[in-house]
Amino acid sequence: MEIEKLRDELQGRIFLPEDSEYDEARNIYNAMIDKRPALFVKCKDRHDVSKAIRFAKKNKLEVSVKAGGHNGAGLALVDNGLVIDLSEMKAIIIDPKKRTAIIEPGNTLGAVDKATHKHGLAIPVGVNGNTGISGLTLGGGLGFLTRKAGLTIDRLIAAEVVLASGEIVTANEKSHADLFWALRGGGGNFGVVVSFTFDLIPVKNVYAGPMLWPIGKAKEVMQFFDTHTKDASHDLYGFFAFLKVPDADPFPEHLRKTNVCGIVWCYTGTVDKIKEVFDPIRKFGPPILDFVSEMPLPTLNSLFDWLYPPGLNWYWKGHYVNELTDSCIATNIEYGANLPTPRSTMHLYPVDGKAHEVGQKDTAWAHRDIRWVQVIIGVSEDPNKNDLIKNWSKRYYGAMIPHSSGGGYVNFTMHDDEARVKESYGVNFDRLSKIKKKFDPENFFHLNQNIKPATS
Ligand SMILES: Cc1cc2nc3c(=O)[nH]c(=O)nc-3n(C[C@H](O)[C@H](O)[C@H](O)COP(=O)(O)OP(=O)(O)OC[C@H]3O[C@@H](n4cnc5c(N)ncnc54)[C@H](O)[C@@H]3O)c2cc1C
Repeated sequence: MEIEKLRDELQGRIFLPEDSEYDEARNIYNAMIDKRPALFVKCKDRHDVSKAIRFAKKNKLEVSVKAGGHNGAGLALVDNGLVIDLSEMKAIIIDPKKRTAIIEPGNTLGAVDKATHKHGLAIPVGVNGNTGISGLTLGGGLGFLTRKAGLTIDRLIAAEVVLASGEIVTANEKSHADLFWALRGGGGNFGVVVSFTFDLIPVKNVYAGPMLWPIGKAKEVMQFFDTHTKDASHDLYGFFAFLKVPDADPFPEHLRKTNVCGIVWCYTGTVDKIKEVFDPIRKFGPPILDFVSEMPLPTLNSLFDWLYPPGLNWYWKGHYVNELTDSCIATNIEYGANLPTPRSTMHLYPVDGKAHEVGQKDTAWAHRDIRWVQVIIGVSEDPNKNDLIKNWSKRYYGAMIPHSSGGGYVNFTMHDDEARVKESYGVNFDRLSKIKKKFDPENFFHLNQNIKPATS
């Protein structure tokens, strides 16, 4: 009866286990996650979100929040609880004159990119088009424009939030400034964000793509990656990767399935500088494969979507890394040259450039002094290989602990990383936990990288 009453009050819909849409709704990106919620509330607007929160409280249901459904740990779902499903809230409103975008949380990065690109504008987002803008932003947001324009949160200027009380508030530098500070990196701890307002930057086409080198050159490539990008212009970005060459076009037959290392470049500077910037890079090695060319930014941001479609099994771990010492490089090569499956990989994403210009305490994202976010990614098509990818990721992660600067990016954690949350927020943890106490004293929103409310 209670559910029927809620159904009548909503603009959106409710899916129960007996409904035909239920299984599709609980299908999230990581196929390793198999949770059975009691109900999904497919919200259409902020009032639906508020009603779902009040309903869950009254009926003592645990709540999870689902946006893009990309979270590796499967935080979007909850067994026997209520899922606040934002995936149908997809409005995007762009003001090209003011260079702002108001974005609802159900959008993927691909949809956001496409909409802003029409105006020659962009938000710094992640490297896969099917990731949700929502979870990515709340955790920080790393991608090809990090060095040029900062983290995704560095372009966030306001958010509309439904609090644990059901109240709807606007958070920005002037209104609920503490909440606005916490949202920029603090994840889903403080309420449900129903719209994000971003400040856009002009970027249209980029000169970008992967270059690959043989695995035997990995040490030199990592050293080159370190020194060459250190003082480079913020227009040049590259992330380092260990990978197996995909067994598919456009990769040449003789390289397919071999272990290699690579750098995926993105240059946003002027065309006349391309030769000057890329000649020394091309001379280094030289690369065995060079796919770097001019392309629209959305093409780059979705270049690997075909390789990582939804429905694969994922287990990942992460570190913050500051220095690529000889022994750190040796540890990386030991595991990176022995990937357990064709799609498993390791990426080192830069966090310098513009992201370093923001102070450690200016947003909740504390580790502004580190150079790289490392993500160790075990991926398998075959669920029988889940233990294989988990063991490899855990062993690689363990071996990297002595080389980590402490903590790791919260968006690259699994359910077994809870003990690491405090370290990951570093100097900002105590303030975050006080703000949590103010806005969510009962820890109603706890299915996230959980920051517990302060006790005093
Ligand atoms: C293939 C792949 C590539 C990725 N690449 C990048 C990358 O390049 N850069 C990067 O920074 N990250 C990257 N990520 C990590 C990504 O940022 C996280 O997985 C993020 O959680 C995804 O957000 P989502 O909305 O899709 O997730 P969901 O699973 O829907 O949400 C995850 C959690 O975030 C919180 N949350 C989400 N939306 C809201 C909201 N509106 N209000 C309150 N809480 C909310 C909730 O706690 C929720 O459970 C990648 C992930 C994958 C799988």
